[in-house]
Amino acid sequence: MFPKFPLMVAPTPLHRMDRASAELGVDLWMKRDDLTGFALGGNKARKLEFLVADWLARGVQAVVTCGAAQSNFIRQLAAACRIAGIECHAVVMRTPYEATAGKPETPAPLKSANWLLSERFGAKLTVLPDGDWDHLFDVMEQTGAEVASQGLRTEVVPVGGSVPLGAWGFYQAGAEVDEAGFDTIFFASSSGSTHVGLATRFFGTGTRVVGVACDPEPEITHDFADLSAGLADLAGRHGLRLPALSHDQFELDLDYVGAGYGVPSAAGREAEEWLLRQEGIVLDPTYTAKAFACLLARARSGERLGKCLFWHTGGTVAQFTTYEGS
Ligand SMILES: *Cc1c(COP(=O)(O)O)cnc(C)c1O
Repeated sequence: MFPKFPLMVAPTPLHRMDRASAELGVDLWMKRDDLTGFALGGNKARKLEFLVADWLARGVQAVVTCGAAQSNFIRQLAAACRIAGIECHAVVMRTPYEATAGKPETPAPLKSANWLLSERFGAKLTVLPDGDWDHLFDVMEQTGAEVASQGLRTEVVPVGGSVPLGAWGFYQAGAEVDEAGFDTIFFASSSGSTHVGLATRFFGTGTRVVGVACDPEPEITHDFADLSAGLADLAGRHGLRLPALSHDQFELDLDYVGAGYGVPSAAGREAEEWLLRQEGIVLDPTYTAKAFACLLARARSGERLGKCLFWHTGGTVAQFTTYEGS
């Protein structure tokens, strides 16, 4: 329905974790979007395949986005733009935070891992002092206007690539696990297009879709509802009826965020260690470790998860981040 600019090796692997399943007494599977084969992996390639195709069709010459300096999205965006011949700009902070939650206590990440890779892929990063997300969004818009004023057809790309076409990417991704018949799917949820895509794909089926929040922001499900309306509208204009989900139709577990976005949590560290020992699979501290911690806690508490999928959204590169003072 929508053209794709091919980036990744799909379908990504889907496999049972036999040792982890035996240890927990749960039929536990993993979807390996850490192994997309593109720019060291991660869920953003799902969105970028559709976004880049759309940008090229519309003659976009430059994109401007924002995020953490250690953003997985910016790394993958920069790589995709490099291939497509599109200029990539990003306004970043070391540790952006939610104004309502305040700045968390955490050592600042140095220029390493995702940050270095983003630059090697050609992204032009503007680094701001730490502040809240709304300030970051404002500067992104200003930068978008500046780049456009140089005469380039410019697209401002919301954080994480969470626009309706990005959610479409995850609606499509869901088809890769349709036939396996999972009872529950867990994954790390943040800017929303992963959640909206999967929740839409499995809406009204026997599959329960559980996002684990990585941001201390309970109201975020209202943004998801807006995105869902956008996805339904986009699909509708191409003759496909999709439900527009309301904010209370997203199952989002907010108990594993810890001190804040991007700040490792004790439960997440324990989950990372546990999975390393059981399966030799690497998680990341910002997203997947927190999501897996949620799954572990629920399994240990005896919650019935049935045939259960952990959708590994990537982030492995963040393991190689070094911090001030360490
Ligand atoms: C971006 C990201 C997520 C969250 O995906 P959204 O679509 O932004 O909610 C989860 N895990 C990793 C590793 C990510 O990079």
